[in-house]
Amino acid sequence: MVCPKCNSEVSGTTKFCPECGWDLREKGSNAAWIAATQEKIKDARHTATAFTTGMVGFMILAGVFPILHFGLGMPMDSTMWVLTTVCIIVAILCVVGHVHYDDKAKELITRLERGR
Ligand SMILES: [Zn+2]
Repeated sequence: MVCPKCNSEVSGTTKFCPECGWDLREKGSNAAWIAATQEKIKDARHTATAFTTGMVGFMILAGVFPILHFGLGMPMDSTMWVLTTVCIIVAILCVVGHVHYDDKAKELITRLERGR
């Protein structure tokens, strides 16, 4: 069988997972809950990563006009300043989103370790 917590291959008669110490007797009946929680952790991590990617992308976009302006002396009109500001705000929102989903993943991992 496969340990529901760490996914290592364990013998069917083992009471505790040799890899992570999971109690395979009592919590075996919770296999569906464990699988669902692991799925939620994976989703939360994917979402957190997507927010990080978004943050990096918008920070790069936010830097384009200021670099052209301060580096190359290109004039910056009000539209460019607005676009730059919007990119910075979206990047900050991405950080907030990342922190939220990262916390969610950590909370789910804690629940998984507690077994409920
Ligand atoms: Zn295990």
